[in-house]
Amino acid sequence: MFKQIELNYNFNALEPHIDELTMNTHYSKHHAAYTNNLNGALEKLPEFKDASIEDVLKGLSSISDEALRTAVRNNGGGYYNHNLYFAILKPGGSTTPSGELANEINKEFGSLENLKEKLVSAAMGRFGSGWAWLSANKSGKLQVSSSPNQDNPIMDNNGWTPILGIDVWEHAYYLKYKNLRGDYIKAFFEALNWDEVAANYAKVESA
Ligand code: MN
Repeated sequence: MFKQIELNYNFNALEPHIDELTMNTHYSKHHAAYTNNLNGALEKLPEFKDASIEDVLKGLSSISDEALRTAVRNNGGGYYNHNLYFAILKPGGSTTPSGELANEINKEFGSLENLKEKLVSAAMGRFGSGWAWLSANKSGKLQVSSSPNQDNPIMDNNGWTPILGIDVWEHAYYLKYKNLRGDYIKAFFEALNWDEVAANYAKVESA
């Protein structure tokens, strides 16, 4: 049974950047539904009984029943992606990455500002629902990408693990920002905890 991560902040703690009703609905309804639906689908797939969520997402192609494969893809992605999303947010955010991650950002993107521009452009350019990602691989390299729906780079099975994810489904921002996705993305960065992203980076590198 997969369980949603527990939030170490209240639903209203990310105000004014991300509002209480959005956080409550996002976590208690959307993320809860992905989690329940994933668990429901996996009941029919005993081969994944003790698998990690990463192994489930890497193993999608082994699910022969198409409807079940789609259910695991959408809900397993939704489960994983939101665990990442909620974990990297923090009241007040934290301004800049540190350590190894900071070095690698400067090496690959030139500056944090350049990286943010790339992330904003990936998030703004994603038509419809999806995600923008900063991912790392075992050599410590970084890459910016975006995915439709609840897909993520783990499903591609080529060594990239997301360390930062920006949810650009309308449910992540519409109650407060309506059609202004760009304003939400700006606000997301105000609530982003770079320390947690750096911790994710360290984990991928040492895995
Ligand atoms: Mn979402």
